[in-house]
Amino acid sequence: MKTILEIKFYPDEVLRLEASNVEKITQKEKKLFENMLHTMYANKGIGLAAPQVGISLKLIVVDVGNGAVKLANPKVISCNGGSFFEEGCLSLPGEQVKVMRPDKVVVEAMDEHSKTIRISAEGLLARALLHEIDHLNGKLIIDHEKGL
Ligand code: ZN
Repeated sequence: MKTILEIKFYPDEVLRLEASNVEKITQKEKKLFENMLHTMYANKGIGLAAPQVGISLKLIVVDVGNGAVKLANPKVISCNGGSFFEEGCLSLPGEQVKVMRPDKVVVEAMDEHSKTIRISAEGLLARALLHEIDHLNGKLIIDHEKGL
């Protein structure tokens, strides 16, 4: 069954928390990944972080058109380049902010089989991953606007 979760909007305080690490991926996390993806697609988003549905865990989903990426505990290992691009956020409807982000990143994370993986990404995928990783640290696009 497809479950569409309720999106939390700014200034909901869950969006400002540092999310907790996930020990391992169980049926519960797998189900949450699926529901996060349904919710993301239903809202025409390209990424979603668990805090955006009120769950303060380090889980993100991204799909920039090349298939779904589901990651736990993602962290940036290296990055290079940098450019501005206008971003939106499902938790900030109507808000568009030009955000400076690296063009290329390497992200280490745990996949849905609890295995540690590394993803090299560039362009929109790199940007989407970085946007969602920001959410896990309580950071929003409006903070970039303020130069934080
Ligand atoms: Zn967002």
